[in-house]
Amino acid sequence: MKEKLLLYNTLTKKKEVFKPLRKQIGMYSCGPTVYWYQHLGNFRTMLLNDFLKRTLIHAGYTVKHVMNITDVDDKTIKASQKEGIPLSQLTRKYEDLFLADLSSLNIAHPTILVRATDSISDMIALIQSLLKKKYAYKASDGIYFSIAKAKNYGQLAGLKKSKINKARIRADEYNKSQPQDFALWKFHIPADGPVFWETNLGKGRPGWHIECSAMAIKNLGKRFDIHTGGQDLIFPHHTNEIAQSEAATGEKFVNYWVHGAFLTMKEEKMSKSKGNILTLYELKKEGYEPVHYRYLCLMTHYRKPLHFSFENLDAAKRAYEKLKRKIIKLKERQLKGSDKQAEYEPAFHSAMYDDLNAPKALQILLKALEDDTFDTRKKLILMEHFDALLGLGIKDMCESSITIPKEVRELIEAREQARGDKRWPEADILRERIREHGFTVQDTPNGARVERV
Ligand code: AMP
Ligand code: ZN
Repeated sequence: MKEKLLLYNTLTKKKEVFKPLRKQIGMYSCGPTVYWYQHLGNFRTMLLNDFLKRTLIHAGYTVKHVMNITDVDDKTIKASQKEGIPLSQLTRKYEDLFLADLSSLNIAHPTILVRATDSISDMIALIQSLLKKKYAYKASDGIYFSIAKAKNYGQLAGLKKSKINKARIRADEYNKSQPQDFALWKFHIPADGPVFWETNLGKGRPGWHIECSAMAIKNLGKRFDIHTGGQDLIFPHHTNEIAQSEAATGEKFVNYWVHGAFLTMKEEKMSKSKGNILTLYELKKEGYEPVHYRYLCLMTHYRKPLHFSFENLDAAKRAYEKLKRKIIKLKERQLKGSDKQAEYEPAFHSAMYDDLNAPKALQILLKALEDDTFDTRKKLILMEHFDALLGLGIKDMCESSITIPKEVRELIEAREQARGDKRWPEADILRERIREHGFTVQDTPNGARVERV
């Protein structure tokens, strides 16, 4: 029986034992607004999704991970007008770039990726049910959600009931100090240009918040396990998602809300509007690999702010390259020692199961790696096992000039086995076959040492 997985839940403001609704976990993550390159801050949150998913899978669950693509909202419309191209042309371009960046960071793509513009009919149905239940009302410029009617409005963001007022806001983003009725459907205005849908709600387009509720409910059902995002989404986006979803379905929407802290630069949240962003392309141009950024994110707990600087990234790069050299050495030189898996494995997994304490898990991995009394072959197996949760690509780490190909590694292992069983003629044949692949094998008191011919 695996140990308990603890997750910090923004809804209850404490670490809780994760109890799934079903064996297959339903997990929804707010995806990118595709109007520009996603920046390193966005990818910090995407990496959090990935570490969480890997840990859930290790805990024995399957995960149905749904992510939206926000391809219609205030920002995307403005950007398409600025670039003078149709909305879909702009958003497809940045969607493709986003997916390529996910791959280069070794982030598994979601099980279901869903575009807002492909889900308009689901949004209409949700808004209609809110109108019917009188949680929504029609105003001159759109259909709005009445926050005063919602039960526990603002619990996620810790809002006081006294803050709730009768004002109304059309914009997708607004301030926590001004909770207001928000737009579910925005009637068409000239500023939106050709972006509208003719529907029985009227000609217009959806508000941002209803998009995620509709896509989540459609793909994961009325109630599901985990919803993730960066902490900037707690208010208003996730607060509004809860209000409108629970009003429409009459059920609790999500059990665990997991939010990642910001990546900051120059003392501020990294964000396009503040003009302090860096993309993965810029890092690559400076000679860094995406995995160096992945390593940097592992070094700080996801609920703590991470300050980005090139000094920090250099430190992560050095640490990663050192780890890589050691792994390559392990693959080359097989030295016998004791099996110390039991000493490190429980501690590593306890760290990850304790609200994804990746920095601690990484320290345990490095300690095991440095342990010279640990049998190298068994150590390598353990490293690969740990890496299932960290995703640093340990299995594929190699240095072209001294890499031992998989077939040769298998031959070496078979020869070790033959020698162990005193099947000497077979061991000699295997030695020859290893030689044919361009490697020699020498037997030392500590095991086989392999070198290129
Ligand atoms: P967006 O493309 O702005 O809709 O954001 C996509 C995801 O990135 C959301 O989960 C945001 O909360 C998250 N995000 C945006 N900026 C940052 C940041 N500086 N640090 C961490 N996460 C962020
Ligand atoms: Zn969302």
